[in-house]
Amino acid sequence: MIPFFSSLFHKSHTAVLHVTSTNGFHLRPAAVFSTKAKTFSSRIEVETRGKSVDAKNLNALLSLSLESGDHFDLVCRGKDAKDALESLSVLFEDLMQEAPLQQDTPPQTAKEIYAGKCVDAEPISLGIGVAPLWYYRQSETYDETKHTDFHEAARRVSAMLQHQYDNTGNADRDIYLAQKALLDTLLGQADSFEEMEAAVAKTVEQLKSGKMAAKIVDYHDLLRRIKTQMGYRMVVDYPADAFILAADDLLPSQIDTLPPQTAGVILQKSTQNSHTAILLRTASFPSAIVRTQLPSEGETVILDSLAGSVVLNPKEEDKTVAYSRLDAEQAKRANACEKRFEKAQTKAGTPITVLANVSDVDSAEEAKENGAEGIGLLRTEFLFKETAPTLEVQTDTYKKIFSLFDDITVRTLDVGGDKALPYIDLPEESNPFLGIRGVRLFKTHPDILETQLRAIFTAAGSRKLKIMFPMVSTPDEFIHAKAFAKQVAGTYEQDIGNIDFGMMVEVPSVLFTLAKFNPLVDFYSIGTNDLLQYLFATERTHPTLRINPRDEALFEAVKTVFEQADKPVSICGELAADTEAIGKLIALGADTLSVSPVLISAIKEAVRHV
Ligand code: PEP
Ligand code: MG
Repeated sequence: MIPFFSSLFHKSHTAVLHVTSTNGFHLRPAAVFSTKAKTFSSRIEVETRGKSVDAKNLNALLSLSLESGDHFDLVCRGKDAKDALESLSVLFEDLMQEAPLQQDTPPQTAKEIYAGKCVDAEPISLGIGVAPLWYYRQSETYDETKHTDFHEAARRVSAMLQHQYDNTGNADRDIYLAQKALLDTLLGQADSFEEMEAAVAKTVEQLKSGKMAAKIVDYHDLLRRIKTQMGYRMVVDYPADAFILAADDLLPSQIDTLPPQTAGVILQKSTQNSHTAILLRTASFPSAIVRTQLPSEGETVILDSLAGSVVLNPKEEDKTVAYSRLDAEQAKRANACEKRFEKAQTKAGTPITVLANVSDVDSAEEAKENGAEGIGLLRTEFLFKETAPTLEVQTDTYKKIFSLFDDITVRTLDVGGDKALPYIDLPEESNPFLGIRGVRLFKTHPDILETQLRAIFTAAGSRKLKIMFPMVSTPDEFIHAKAFAKQVAGTYEQDIGNIDFGMMVEVPSVLFTLAKFNPLVDFYSIGTNDLLQYLFATERTHPTLRINPRDEALFEAVKTVFEQADKPVSICGELAADTEAIGKLIALGADTLSVSPVLISAIKEAVRHV
């Protein structure tokens, strides 16, 4: 007889249980409780406020939101009801003895969530996976009948990369273009596969621990691609059941071949800005970088990149918690996605505008589809990567982007530092982040800026538009850039009365001179990425040095801007996309956030919880 019907023939056993812990009956004790309940065959219910839920169902249990001071009836019916009641009552008493949760720590630290040992994981892509570890390995086979000579193999790889570039509908396409460019350079140095291997080894040696270290995987990927064309086959014997992949690093082309049973990916020597990391994010595999030693193959772990952690040797209750967090996360994402076109406002009713950071037509369209209310940052340096665009091509591209939204902020070229364009010659500098960059190009490359501004003005026509200058450090730089823009408009008889001029706040000197900028600018946009690197004298692309992206000094800087600016201020750096920081930013006065297109719905949802 199935348990439900058999339970009807048994007397019920009931106890009244009181929630005494100041933390309430929250996720962890509820998970322990429901896991224990499942060990009994009896029907076990929690009844309170006219509602009755199955105690074996964690989500149902949590839906009661039992707080300190609440009580409920625990009702057990079935063969082992008496034992169940006794055992669950004792367990519940125990669970109510836990220490109060620290209110000043974020609610989702791994140690609060999981009972097992947690190691730090730097999230690459947010998600949760529970499965045995599997260490990536591949074997190589050679099929003589498929042999192709080196030059033909390289030609095919080049054509394949071009094909992938042409047929990838998002910003990842640039990865293939970049690899193609690397291949062209290597072919200039090598006439055989062996020579190419030697050239790669030399380049990799130079790149190691430099700020371009993230490129190393691309070089190895090219060798792999060519080898595959020369008759070699890389065979990977993936486990048949769900697994969490562990590796020092993966190559971009290996991401495409990960099977659906990949529950997560842990990399030990990768970097956040590598192409591998970018593709993992696009493919949405829960993934993270873990720099400490991992258990042996076959050991089950929980990869919870939402909590920035890997749980080693998880107990059953930890797994239950992980599964329920996963369910909750999926439900949260679906709910946020449904509401993506709705305006976001805080619980107190403050409306917050959520805009997108985009870099081309595709990402602008993606932003529209994802519910962005406008573009808060158009990074124009990524629009034309290979050759200098003609005035017509530029105008046309801006027109396409401008047609999508009413509220658009275009940033003039921010080349220099880690951003290079092959058609813009910059001097060799030992500290490029402190050299010719951003607004400084107005003086060094006026022709390029003139064409850019002329194209933007033409594309804008009479529509309202905001133009901002990057890397401004003194009022004179702003005055010069704006005067230059006016002069371009004058030369080509363009009316720019509809255009506002503003600036990025990303160089610390601005924090101390806002009173001087106020009469000059129409708006500000805080670039927390550069602001952080210049505040802490730590390159944003540095392979080993890390700054806490939520350091108090950064919030103090943001606070200064909101206190002293008398023009509208938005935030477009990564801090605006940090759901843990949003409450604080809004409290400081932020009402406009600009974030990556994929994050729009999640950020709107985070605002609704502030
Ligand atoms: C910033 O510096 O925060 C910013 C948004 O600009 P970018 O990342 O393009 O330098
Ligand atoms: Mg910047």
